[in-house]
Amino acid sequence: MTTPMNNRSLRAGLPSRHFPQHHSVQAPVQTPVPTEVHHNLRKPVCVMKFGGTSVGDASCIARVVEIIRAASRESQVVVVVSAMSGVTNQLVAAATQSEQGQHSSVATIFDAIREKHEKAIETLIHSAVERNRIDSKMKKLLEDGERFCQGTSMLRELTLRSRDAISGLGERLSAPLVAAALAERGVASEAIEATELVVTDSCHGSAEPLMDQTGERCEARLRPLLDRDIVPVVTGFIGATEDGVLTTLGRGGSDYSATILGAALQADEVIIWTDVDGLQTSDPRLVDGGCTIPELSYREASELAYFGAKVLHPKTLRAVMQCGIPLWIRNTFTPERPGTRITPAGQPGAGAVKAVTAIHDVVLINIGGPGMVGVQDVLGRTLRTTAAVRADVLLISQSSSQNDLCLVIPSALAKCTVEALHHEFAHELPHDKAEHITVDPTVAIIAVVGQHMRGVAGAVGRACSALDRENVSIVAIAQGSTECTFSLVVPKGDMKAALVSIHREFELGNTSNGTMAERTMPYRAALPELGNQP
Ligand code: ADP
Ligand code: ASP
Ligand code: MG
Repeated sequence: MTTPMNNRSLRAGLPSRHFPQHHSVQAPVQTPVPTEVHHNLRKPVCVMKFGGTSVGDASCIARVVEIIRAASRESQVVVVVSAMSGVTNQLVAAATQSEQGQHSSVATIFDAIREKHEKAIETLIHSAVERNRIDSKMKKLLEDGERFCQGTSMLRELTLRSRDAISGLGERLSAPLVAAALAERGVASEAIEATELVVTDSCHGSAEPLMDQTGERCEARLRPLLDRDIVPVVTGFIGATEDGVLTTLGRGGSDYSATILGAALQADEVIIWTDVDGLQTSDPRLVDGGCTIPELSYREASELAYFGAKVLHPKTLRAVMQCGIPLWIRNTFTPERPGTRITPAGQPGAGAVKAVTAIHDVVLINIGGPGMVGVQDVLGRTLRTTAAVRADVLLISQSSSQNDLCLVIPSALAKCTVEALHHEFAHELPHDKAEHITVDPTVAIIAVVGQHMRGVAGAVGRACSALDRENVSIVAIAQGSTECTFSLVVPKGDMKAALVSIHREFELGNTSNGTMAERTMPYRAALPELGNQP
């Protein structure tokens, strides 16, 4: 049986100092142990991230505690937590309402958040001293949050910085709660705000980590705790600039927090605990009959995440790409199942379509028309413009010699991108009446993913025929030469039908498409008293 804890071969070729061979060295009795050997005796380091549903209420947190308790017997565990489910949405709503001066709705939102946390404290924490300590910590955090909202309300302006300060509050509330619940069950733990650990640039709302500084901070702050068998419970989603200003990594960013910490500590594995059994062959909310993919390569998983598989934040793999740390996606509510293992190379020799995914909060921008004919460097200037406004270009296609270009970007950035493009091409298009830059919000991208797809005969043709059978028209198509993904732009209203038909065409619901990943399950034994997923 292969367990990821012991499977060091995954990292072949990487410097051994990163991956201590803990299991091979025995310290001689009563002999001074050199520092190097101490290092070698360390248990493997495992970063475990629990998403919003996993910490959604007291009974979910109780499960999480048992999972961590069991894991901490065999590993040095770093926990990363999201806000309790729904709380970040509520905080974003409070921020928006305060910009509009809606004091009473802001107060109602904060009351609901307060109540949710108080209820969980009441159930989970029995020691009066601990309960008072945690109660007053929460009170203080919520007061801070309300003050940020009052400031926003007074100015009637929600800056990106204030939005981060308000929306990042949920993780600052949940981390102390989970740490206290662990302590209650006898697991030594400490809640830590990631503002102490994750150093980022100042791009509020989608900050990027500065890995050198983050690595130093994690070594200094987390390693001593791990060496004393104390479980750090770190807030996901947030970080801070070098000057200490709170930033957020983007919605759903706690997955990224986990791999950032994993890379910073050169962890042996990172596990994303969530509410599904792993990465599925398609979005389970849209396609029935999908199944869990046992193993994927980094490349396949990041393509899926990038094209809408919400279970992983699109940037999650970025942090571990260089160091080859295996990543798992597992279900908090069925911890006995192995989940999906994501490794640098994926399953050896596997060449097949593995999954189909979709992203719908996008717009299609067309640049073209008579005024564009003969204009210099349209492609280069367009891409420099999208980069300047930090708009990810999800798909691009140029199918004519007349500078006709179409690109797909996230809807949230449509307005500023189009403004920037108008500005960029202002000289070329001043008086022309034709519409040269148009925006179509009625599309979605369908991405078909699987490595070595060149080995799958006529994959693109089969996908197109499947869409044709359902009368789904194809607005644009793009395929790179890396054989991992091809993407089709379809009308948004046909997105579900397109997913279902491609899923069926490639028989992705067939569980014999891969061998289940194996791992030892210390968590099962620890969970006999817990019932099924709510
Ligand atoms: P968490 O709160 O644990 O971070 P998320 O809600 O962010 O969880 O992500 C998990 C959800 O992602 C699942 O409940 C599922 O509905 C959705 N999802 C979308 N596409 C996929 C996919 N291909 N595989 C698995 N889950 C997916
Ligand atoms: N709580 C944050 C969000 O809802 C981050 C996360 O859950 O990953 O976006
Ligand atoms: Mg998530």
